[in-house]
Amino acid sequence: MTSDKTIDAVLVGGGVMSATVGALLKELEPGWTIEIFERLDDVALESSHVLNNAGTGHAALCELNYTPQRPDGSVDVSKALKINEQFEVSRQFWSYLVGQGHFASPREFITAVPHISFVRGDEDAAFLQKRHGALRDQPLFEGMEYSQDRAEMAEWMPLVMAGRDPAEKVAATRSLDGTDVNFGALTRGLLRLMNRAGGVRVHLQHDVRRVRRQSDGTWQVTAKNHATGASRHVRARFVFLGAGGRALPLLLNSGIPEARGYGGFPVGGLWLVCSNLSVVERHHAKVYGKAKLGAPPMSVPHLDTRFIDRRRGLLFGPYAGYSTKFLKQGSYLDWPLSVRPGNVVPLTMSGIHNVPLVRYLIREVLQSSASRLRTLQEYYPEARAEDWEMRMAGQRVQIIRKDAKTGTYLQFGTEVVNSADGTLSALLGASPGASTSVPIVLELLARCFPQRLSSQAWQAKLSQMIPTFGQSLPSDPALCRRIRHETSEALGLAR
Ligand SMILES: Cc1cc2nc3c(=O)[nH]c(=O)nc-3n(C[C@H](O)[C@H](O)[C@H](O)COP(=O)(O)OP(=O)(O)OC[C@H]3O[C@@H](n4cnc5c(N)ncnc54)[C@H](O)[C@@H]3O)c2cc1C
Repeated sequence: MTSDKTIDAVLVGGGVMSATVGALLKELEPGWTIEIFERLDDVALESSHVLNNAGTGHAALCELNYTPQRPDGSVDVSKALKINEQFEVSRQFWSYLVGQGHFASPREFITAVPHISFVRGDEDAAFLQKRHGALRDQPLFEGMEYSQDRAEMAEWMPLVMAGRDPAEKVAATRSLDGTDVNFGALTRGLLRLMNRAGGVRVHLQHDVRRVRRQSDGTWQVTAKNHATGASRHVRARFVFLGAGGRALPLLLNSGIPEARGYGGFPVGGLWLVCSNLSVVERHHAKVYGKAKLGAPPMSVPHLDTRFIDRRRGLLFGPYAGYSTKFLKQGSYLDWPLSVRPGNVVPLTMSGIHNVPLVRYLIREVLQSSASRLRTLQEYYPEARAEDWEMRMAGQRVQIIRKDAKTGTYLQFGTEVVNSADGTLSALLGASPGASTSVPIVLELLARCFPQRLSSQAWQAKLSQMIPTFGQSLPSDPALCRRIRHETSEALGLAR
């Protein structure tokens, strides 16, 4: 079926990223017509599904990979400040949505859960203490506590401390500002908002196969309906490729020169999920450790309280898995078909330059159940195999490209790629992910709609939805405290 009209926007994929693009566009341009194509039977069934990600509201409160140690031993907190500020931007937009009545309660998608960093050994304890010293005076990290006191730590995280060797040096920091986020529920809330606004159609079971530029500068999007076998063709002035792992092949096929050189390799994930409710009830925190040598940042082990439909859960992981699929429900041909003459060199060189990562992945994939239990016992010494079940997490695609200036092969956390005229945009990569979806989409809007963004109408609306829009939080302690207080109240996180 071909639609004769040219619509304003097509969003490919029904995850949290497309939903955030759609919700923001609908708030900024209520009259726009938007179509969303999702290949599965429902939205938010891939990485955005509550069981496919860890649901950590990434604010760099506990994730040690955002505060690397410099060669002189000092701790670089610049990335942590940026991520914390970005999460605060997401919190503001979500607070606005709650205030507009798009969620019956913020508890549908966000819950306060303390964030703890936990380390073992003298060297890592010294690092953690330095990290705490560098962050504690930053208004965004106010209230973060440091402890080497085993009794205090046992109060913070009883499962982690019980049965632990008393001779082992351990240390932890705790922030009570941490959160657990159900990104699946958030996605559905964002789509509700769009549907209420009108002019939006969501096509489930529609797999987008082709995105082609037309002579008039618009894009023709072709999607196959799995249920009927029919194809739907639609013309759009703007296309967002929010297809998770599949955004990369769609981008490469779009033919835009900006896509050249991007490659990716998939990293699967596995969780151990606790099935013993009496164990689940004894833990109330997200406890993040230090990544093993060579491990990608996305594989930092953590013992994690989750809230799923307001019920408490407990998981540990992720363990890296391997599959050539770009989506959990993807095809084994995803990765081989994404290798092109334009990206084969970056992919190969990145592998050669990342021997510790390759070694780490091989070790992880070959791990036995007993070895996985031993890793869990580093965090929860009294863990018993019978209380835990292995489950597959979502699939991530690590993005690689040659840096034109330095000639090195870079791996990206999250990368927005767009055509020069701003009519097509894609989101690649995995981390820090859904938590920073709002600032990521704001960056995308700035690149694709620069004139509209500078208009008075968009500026006013953005300031209404995100009160600190255009301002710097770390450099304004009073603003920082005020906004943290306001979003905590609006999202039901206040202590
Ligand atoms: C193991 C793991 C742990 C994570 N932990 C966290 C965390 O703690 N905190 C955090 O903030 N983030 C975390 N993330 C990252 C977060 O889950 C992602 O950043 C986020 O869900 C990505 O959303 P998305 O909309 O881009 O992708 P997805 O949710 O994967 O959505 C993409 C959608 O596109 C659809 N699609 C694909 N191809 C097509 C096509 N051709 N046509 C139509 N539809 C298509 C898919 O079916 C899917 O529904 C984690 C991810 C993983 C895998």
